[in-house]
Amino acid sequence: MPNRLPTRKRRGANSPRKDECCRCEFVGHYLRGGTKYCLKHFRFARMRAGAQCHRKAVPTFEQLECMLSHLTGMECPHCKREMHWDRSHGTASQITLQHYRSGLMGFLCHSCNVRHAAQDGDSFVTIPITHKLCRDCNQVKPLDAFGFNRKHQRFDDRHTYCRGCMSARVAVWRSRRSQAATTH
Ligand SMILES: [Zn+2]
Ligand SMILES: [Zn+2]
Ligand SMILES: [Zn+2]
Repeated sequence: MPNRLPTRKRRGANSPRKDECCRCEFVGHYLRGGTKYCLKHFRFARMRAGAQCHRKAVPTFEQLECMLSHLTGMECPHCKREMHWDRSHGTASQITLQHYRSGLMGFLCHSCNVRHAAQDGDSFVTIPITHKLCRDCNQVKPLDAFGFNRKHQRFDDRHTYCRGCMSARVAVWRSRRSQAATTH
């Protein structure tokens, strides 16, 4: 049942510790709905809640555990950076649940997850981390072909459109503005 919410594990009268995670023997430092979780299971619970909130497929804790066993350590399968359960090393490397548009699920670092959200289909899988798709000319170009955008804080600090397309856009904008100025 993928949509079932996490339930507290039944424990016997000889339960050794009251402070342990509801899903494993680790100490539960994190509280969610009155239930204690260790860091990993807390993230799992958050991923499940996030999926539910976005009306996406909600994996079971067992599925998440299985997906985790397919990772190489905590390495992001796409960009190979080391992922972390919390944001102590920054938001970019936090482990996230990725719903591929093919219907599959997997783990990705936050940075790659955001990159996926900004690109069509699952195309980001085939576009290397050093390249980017320009939405205007529809070409995959190296990051150098895109100008810097200091306001961009998503997954890179580059513009959405390549330098060539950007200057074409600016030219169109300038001619529209001068046309507007001459007609008034
Ligand atoms: Zn746990
Ligand atoms: Zn990554
Ligand atoms: Zn372009």
